[in-house]
Amino acid sequence: MTVNNKRSYDAQALQLWDAPWPTEELEAVPCCPVCGDSNKALMFEDLVDNVFFVAPGRWNMFRCRECSSGYLDPRPSASSIGKAYGEYYTHTNTKAAAAPIAKSRLHLLKKKLRNGYTNIRFGTNNQPSTKIGYWVFQLLKRKKQLVDVDYFHLPKPAPGQKLLDVGCGNGNAMAVAKSIGWQAVGVDPDPKAIEAAKAKNFNVSLGDIRNFDGQSKAFDAIILSHVIEHVPDPSQTLNRAFDLLVPGGTIFVDTPNISSRGARKFGKNWRGIEAPRHLVLFNSKSLVRLMKEIGFTEISLKGRPRLARGMYLESHRISCKYSPYNEELKLPFHLKLQTIIFTPKRSRQEFITLTAKRPE
Ligand SMILES: [Zn+2]
Repeated sequence: MTVNNKRSYDAQALQLWDAPWPTEELEAVPCCPVCGDSNKALMFEDLVDNVFFVAPGRWNMFRCRECSSGYLDPRPSASSIGKAYGEYYTHTNTKAAAAPIAKSRLHLLKKKLRNGYTNIRFGTNNQPSTKIGYWVFQLLKRKKQLVDVDYFHLPKPAPGQKLLDVGCGNGNAMAVAKSIGWQAVGVDPDPKAIEAAKAKNFNVSLGDIRNFDGQSKAFDAIILSHVIEHVPDPSQTLNRAFDLLVPGGTIFVDTPNISSRGARKFGKNWRGIEAPRHLVLFNSKSLVRLMKEIGFTEISLKGRPRLARGMYLESHRISCKYSPYNEELKLPFHLKLQTIIFTPKRSRQEFITLTAKRPE
């Protein structure tokens, strides 16, 4: 990742934001991209790219009065949005894991328990392991949630089962899926991300879910992680995903929650806003409603313990007019305490994380 240590409001940043996005490359959004209602209220004005410092312009976000989703209006047109992804974080390869250091017996025990759980739950072959781990993790709900989300809550695949990662970036999720036996296919609109994924021998193509037009019932699982907030028509994307799933297939969706505790606390400085790359921001109710309308069943919202800390830290830095990745600025004690003591209910967590199925 390109670590940008700049303070947001330096002369260079102001110059970037004051340069308008070309008018002919903007499109109006007359109605809510989630529910189609046109009744809206201004939520935030003057939003800028204070995350990656790539996109020019100042943006307005509206809240739909019908479903409470947030959306930019106007927004970059589909043909121009690529300009907002110049230094995006899926471009670079993830660093290799640090060399193992001598571990205590307790650490070794924890590892054996975790591996025992993932081997049974997801079909990994991680060693050392103990089968007792599976049962221990049934009792340690928060620990289990942390591990489950690392594996995208995927079912254990039968031999030959296929998974599609829409917005695969440089292939991190595909690597996890492959490690548990999925035949993984990926697609991403970002040429640099695709280049990075190809260098790692992943089966990927440049584009989006429309690359699979004409196919149906082709995949046993689909991952849409941090994707639906980026697409101009999330309903269409989810509809296509539904068609591409086999009956009984599973979809995993993860997206920032505009009704989260952090979003309310930090307002326009909340890290999840990320204008103008995030075009649409859901809350759990609007996403679940849309997915039900499309036909998904067994929609299950997942807990994300510990997630607030990172979002609070990055939002705090933005509030202080720093880059969210400027490591000089730490999370103040009172904010850290809030993320430790209070676990918000799922509808107030920082991300909406869910799985659902196409019915049999
Ligand atoms: Zn709406």
